[in-house]
Amino acid sequence: MSRINVLDDHLTNMIAAGEVVERPMGVVKELVENSIDAGAGKIEIRIVNGGMESIEVIDDGCGMDKVDATMAFQRHATSKIRETHDLWSIQTMGFRGEALPSIASVSKLKMITSDGTDSTLVRIEYGQIKEVRPIAANQGTSILVEGLFYKTPARLKHLKSGNVETNMILDLVQKIALAHPEIAFELYSDDKLRIQTNGSDSLQEAILAVYGLEVARKSIPISFSDYDFSVDGYLISPVITRSNRQYINVSMNGRIIRSLPLQKAVIDGYREFMMPDRFPIVVLNIRADYQLVDVNVHPSKWEIRISKEKALYSLLSENIRQTLRAQTRPSDMVVEHAQKQEITQPQYTPAQQQPEMRFEEQRMTYTTEETLQRFNYLGQHHGKYILAYDEENIYIIDQHAAMERCMYEEIQQQISERKVDCQPLLIPLVIEITPAQMNQLERINEMLECINLKLEPFSLTSVAVRELPTFVEGDEESFIRELIEQITGDREMGVLDIRKEKIASLACHASVKFNSYLTAEECRRLLARLSRCAQPFNCPHGRPTMLAISDRQLEKEFKRV
Ligand code: ADP
Ligand code: MG
Repeated sequence: MSRINVLDDHLTNMIAAGEVVERPMGVVKELVENSIDAGAGKIEIRIVNGGMESIEVIDDGCGMDKVDATMAFQRHATSKIRETHDLWSIQTMGFRGEALPSIASVSKLKMITSDGTDSTLVRIEYGQIKEVRPIAANQGTSILVEGLFYKTPARLKHLKSGNVETNMILDLVQKIALAHPEIAFELYSDDKLRIQTNGSDSLQEAILAVYGLEVARKSIPISFSDYDFSVDGYLISPVITRSNRQYINVSMNGRIIRSLPLQKAVIDGYREFMMPDRFPIVVLNIRADYQLVDVNVHPSKWEIRISKEKALYSLLSENIRQTLRAQTRPSDMVVEHAQKQEITQPQYTPAQQQPEMRFEEQRMTYTTEETLQRFNYLGQHHGKYILAYDEENIYIIDQHAAMERCMYEEIQQQISERKVDCQPLLIPLVIEITPAQMNQLERINEMLECINLKLEPFSLTSVAVRELPTFVEGDEESFIRELIEQITGDREMGVLDIRKEKIASLACHASVKFNSYLTAEECRRLLARLSRCAQPFNCPHGRPTMLAISDRQLEKEFKRV
């Protein structure tokens, strides 16, 4: 007996719903994306109990005529693509024609839509059309979804508490609002206004509305491009950090995406300004030729495939690093240490509750180098810290971190100028390695070439080193072993990455011991070396090299103001 049958529409819609709308957040995402595609200038979202009770999305977009109003609920019905080649350059958020029929198959849905001429009401309950009739309405579309997953108990059980679902939706809408500052968003949760942006097309105003005043004040504009990509947005000064990656907002052609490589590129750009367990806040909107981006990778469209991703990675991390280097100054650091403000919970601050404000001019009045050259040496403390001052601040400089920073940049310069000094060894250093590492010897040598280090096969399981860069001091063997391990351990690491990463640890090994006493002359020399660094305020691992105490702060502490 044959056993295969073709599934009916209702069942396929319910199956698709499992992928497209896993939870209330997915419903909000699909409905809001439809509103964006409809050219809405304003999108209002209302959720009750994390969307489990109801979700309503109201827009002032193009709406639909009476034919489309029901067509929209047929599987694979879409106005956004027509033929195969459209799939290679998708400019809209949607294109699969799956969302509405899927959502309607697992909920009670009511839609009112008007294209300015026809106005139609459509009511569907768990996939069955209950009502279609003309109705009076303004142009636009409103969709109300109730009783989500009520008839799919397995899915219902999978949902978290109302609070958790609410937070996911808040986070989603924040991200969408930041990717679309040209649209005014309002989100009400249990009738309370939680997010409101003004749609003025100013990204900084959107950041203010979403993340609040403190963050908006510390935003640094950034804009750069290459032949394929152009990037605009804001970096938030590394003075403000977060404990997770959720605040790294990257959108591609208006689409919010989850991309680990791009997040990594941002973190890489911030690395030297931040401790490794802290994460930055950024909002970057990337534009690329639609053909470079394949969005047809996953039903919920969170993931995309980007051609030339490696080039985009370097473009992002390099430009972020350069921008931050030009912006940070030591007095920024004291804010973090003096106040130790830790905001782990996102703050939802509707724009209307914000005081009238003007953004502070972010540019410095003097360059980094000038600041540091004004340092006057005061003394050394406990053999660990150097004290210095200029007309604005008193500085406490961590000798070890400062030394690391200097070594790091000096070695980096030797590498980029291809002038790494080397010293032949009297007796070659023989190092045992694993067969797997031996198998990658060519790649390892390719990576190490930049510091003139070459591993020669010595036996089946060992290599010999005959020459070492002069900056390597101390335990050379564990040094080289660490390099080999890092290179073989991470297949993803590009040549440049390895170099930077390794140089940082090289510098660390080679720099002074924490407690070694420096003479006044040595301290002065260290200050001068530090002043030549491109990024003197953090060690290569992100720890600060110095704290600054301003005059104003002293006056405050001594109760003079
Ligand atoms: P897709 O977005 O992939 O095309 P959907 O199932 O989400 O598929 O929507 C089906 C169609 O319904 C869309 O192509 C669009 O023509 C229409 N539509 C959906 N939502 C709206 C809306 N808010 N305003 C205008 N048209 C809409
Ligand atoms: Mg859609």
